[in-house]
Amino acid sequence: MSLAIVDEALVLSTIDYGEADRIVTLFTRGRGRLSAFAAGARKSKRRFAGALEAGTHLRAQLVERRGEVFRLDGADIVQSFHRLRDDLPRIARLMYCLELIRELTRDQEPHTQLFDGLRDYLQKLDAKEAGPTSLLLFELDALAQAGFMPSFAPCALCGEPTGERPRFDPSHGGVLCLPCSTRVAGGFPVSAQVVEALSRLQAGERTPLPAETRARARELLNVFIAHHLGRKLNSVDFMEQVGTD
Ligand SMILES: [Zn+2]
Repeated sequence: MSLAIVDEALVLSTIDYGEADRIVTLFTRGRGRLSAFAAGARKSKRRFAGALEAGTHLRAQLVERRGEVFRLDGADIVQSFHRLRDDLPRIARLMYCLELIRELTRDQEPHTQLFDGLRDYLQKLDAKEAGPTSLLLFELDALAQAGFMPSFAPCALCGEPTGERPRFDPSHGGVLCLPCSTRVAGGFPVSAQVVEALSRLQAGERTPLPAETRARARELLNVFIAHHLGRKLNSVDFMEQVGTD
């Protein structure tokens, strides 16, 4: 039994399969993340004509096959976002947010808002409208929607203000006050100013952060994400190499 569906999708990643084929991981609007078999994708340039580049927004024709991966029968490009592939810092951010979404989501668990958030972020990145703080904003939103929202204020354990000497403890949900972190013997010291900045971003404030604060905020989120996923995202190193945050 098979079922044909058409859905909007963003290409998260692809891997070559055999001599001519490709397995594509898609983030679809209606069904969330899924893997699809694209027969002949490497041999016939015409069939998918550049549609299977990471980040491309597609209208995908899929066939669901019981007990097997989906089959990708065709793909029309809605937006290729080709301009954002002009420079390394934007490529690094593209790879980072695609990997983040791929790792935060599970197969066939729909996240419509997360799909729209990723598409909107890629549009801004493509149009050079994504300011330096926008990746942090996108990330905080993605974490919240995937059910991994870090707590920055108040203390994740007692609910009191975190004070002048907050500590960050991903295994207890985020930032703790000093007495709580002493009690659970966890976490490491973080700057109260960085905690406040992250807490304001999380509350929806769109004020850009200075470079130094962004760098410290990035370190905290890297630790938090690595803790929850059990590994550091591969694209973190690439972002560091090209000097973006
Ligand atoms: Zn506390």
